[in-house]
Amino acid sequence: MRRFLFGPVNSRRLGRSLGIDLLPFKTCSLDCIYCECGWTTDKTLQRGELVPTSAVLAELDDHLSAGQEIDYVTFSGAGEPTLHTGIGVIIGHMKQHYPQFKVAVLTNGTLLGDPMVQAQLTRADLVVPSLDGATEAAFRDICRPAAGLAVQSVIDGIASFRRGFPGLLLLEIFVVPGKNDSPAELAALKRAALRIRPDAIQLNSLDRPAPFPGVTPPGADHLQSIRDTFHPLPVQAVRRREKGEPAPWSNAVVFAEILKALERGSTTLGRLSVVSGIREGDLAKTLAQMASQALVHYDSDSSQVRLRH
Ligand code: SF4
Repeated sequence: MRRFLFGPVNSRRLGRSLGIDLLPFKTCSLDCIYCECGWTTDKTLQRGELVPTSAVLAELDDHLSAGQEIDYVTFSGAGEPTLHTGIGVIIGHMKQHYPQFKVAVLTNGTLLGDPMVQAQLTRADLVVPSLDGATEAAFRDICRPAAGLAVQSVIDGIASFRRGFPGLLLLEIFVVPGKNDSPAELAALKRAALRIRPDAIQLNSLDRPAPFPGVTPPGADHLQSIRDTFHPLPVQAVRRREKGEPAPWSNAVVFAEILKALERGSTTLGRLSVVSGIREGDLAKTLAQMASQALVHYDSDSSQVRLRH
């Protein structure tokens, strides 16, 4: 029986992703009103070995040595994964024994200013911190943080992490209509994002019932206008694949999104994957198709991509 691993699940962004949950339910530094796991029962900033690291490693070895077909191993689950002090050892184990798999960390960003946490995450391929409010009022209203957490220190921490982190960083913003979508709140979020300099922003919204009554998803047009307010920062496309819709790599809308992203200059397959929200395997097929139509130049050996003029 698996205690710490779940999935793999298919994700448009990460492909086949095996989840690791390092926390007793539900241990977190925040208690977000939209959290799909329900209320936080242990709200804390205190790090610790919250489940035995050796047991997580044994379960990973047991699972991965069977020859899994996955793209990412992703730290996520019901709580904040950086609260676990063994996360660096587990990432190091993955890199040493299973370098064929990429490592992603989904985090609420509250501990990223801690030099120990920064060092422990440095070998991850992708880190996805969230920032739902950039004013103290919105942060408290949406995220209901543990005592002692202030939004400015969270923003400073994410920005500090970004400066030293060699991997890809995707900043996730959960849009809660009425709480963080006013012009003033969006301007504060944009200022914070400009400071953090993520590879891309991802806007998220409610797609399942929230524990807090009254949390609703924004309409598609509203989400698109919010996306526009972050210009010139790259924001992942706000669209879900509809039932029966052709695979993303044959869709003209996806072609247009990729061409728009490349207008900023040449990039790598990994970075373009984060900006477009399309997993690398699908994106490589898309790019080969676009290259055959003389739309882009894609060098699969160096993973460099650029517009073809
Ligand atoms: S940070 Fe994530 S796990 Fe923690 S309360 Fe918010 S949504 Fe839930």
